[in-house]
Amino acid sequence: MRLVVLVLGACLLFVPLRGQNLEAVVRPQIAGLVATYEDLHRHPELSHHEEKTSAFLAGELRRAGYEVTEHVGKYPDGGAAYGIVAVMHNGSGPTLLIRTDMDALPVTEKTGLPYASTVRAVGEHGQEVGVMHACGHDIHMTVMLGVARSLAQLKNNWHGTLLLIGQPAEERIDGARAMLADHLYERFGRPNYAIALHDDSELAAGTVGVVSGPLLASSTSVDVLIRGVGGHGAHPDATKDPIVAAAQYILAIQTIVSRQNSPLDPAVVTVGDIHGGSKRNIIPDEVKLELTVRAYSEQVRENILSDLSRTARGIALAAGIPEERSPIVKVIDGESVPATYNDPVLAARLRPVFARWIGQENVLSPRPGMGSEDFGLFGLDNHEIPIFMLRLGAVAPEKVAESRRTGRPLPSLHSSLFAPLPEPTIRTGVLTMTAAALNLLHP
Ligand SMILES: [Zn+2]
Ligand SMILES: [Zn+2]
Repeated sequence: MRLVVLVLGACLLFVPLRGQNLEAVVRPQIAGLVATYEDLHRHPELSHHEEKTSAFLAGELRRAGYEVTEHVGKYPDGGAAYGIVAVMHNGSGPTLLIRTDMDALPVTEKTGLPYASTVRAVGEHGQEVGVMHACGHDIHMTVMLGVARSLAQLKNNWHGTLLLIGQPAEERIDGARAMLADHLYERFGRPNYAIALHDDSELAAGTVGVVSGPLLASSTSVDVLIRGVGGHGAHPDATKDPIVAAAQYILAIQTIVSRQNSPLDPAVVTVGDIHGGSKRNIIPDEVKLELTVRAYSEQVRENILSDLSRTARGIALAAGIPEERSPIVKVIDGESVPATYNDPVLAARLRPVFARWIGQENVLSPRPGMGSEDFGLFGLDNHEIPIFMLRLGAVAPEKVAESRRTGRPLPSLHSSLFAPLPEPTIRTGVLTMTAAALNLLHP
């Protein structure tokens, strides 16, 4: 008897979402959210400096009924991060992590919008830079607020725990790692699922993109130090020239992707920075190269890293560089991230949920990309926690149509001209992410 009463009680507590309930909850928020977006857009802050942005987000989440902890995150140098965690417990059930990033980029805005950023700050190398939300993290934060408020209002429609994350320093790919290193899961609970979205500079506002499996590539930063034996430029025979060895190395590693990697496994090796020498008549002692390696699979990434080391050793050997001056190939772990892998089961579960609220025709299947992101870290090693990142269309539909007609590309993410269309983008983001949360927190 007691059991029957308990079960009945539990059923009464949970009211399934009916009809247009969700839209009725979201619609009245939109004008306020657009104003919030414009305000966030006007006041961007660079990675590691998200002080006011995180305080604003924390205040709004607190007002929405969440228990908020600020300053979650520790960088390897001991510096504190501006990460925030907002928790809402609502009975027993799964724990869902929803993440937004918060940082902006050193880009001088050229959109000409009335709410364009005019902020300037000191950049990474001490120079003055313009600052802009050129990756749309202001859209992500605004959507997060809408989702947080909607789920607080719809508490009778879900059970479990919400873990809302305001992550700093996505653009430097060290923010997620800093929060995890600060014992995020030990302190606030380990999620059963983690979801996020990223705006998309090619998809029309009002649409979303669902990708199953690899969404974004892993990115590994590699430093290669080609060491030689320096001397006078007039006597190359008395030296081991690291500049020539570096030139040979750069050409040799072009065959890693083209000849050593399977054509069916996407990969990129880019040398983005090369430094060596001080004067035209001096053969220097060393040349430093900075590389990034991108791949979807961990095996491909490891193969490429070992190819890079082997090729460096081979070039040095061929040049007769002494053993004690052999090249040093170093992976920079703090600047590397795993691939963002959308759990296929989660993707298949959520696709019809999105279609229900925005229409089947607005749920697209874009191609994955070779860019990178640190959201994958929240899934831990070996995809322990299933994660899913939604692509959120952000461009005025007529601009998408025009670009298709003329072949002229649209301003990409990180462009000084990137200008998301706020209203439909935010509305679609709040609807789809709230719907996803209600689905995953359905007992
Ligand atoms: Zn970005
Ligand atoms: Zn971004």
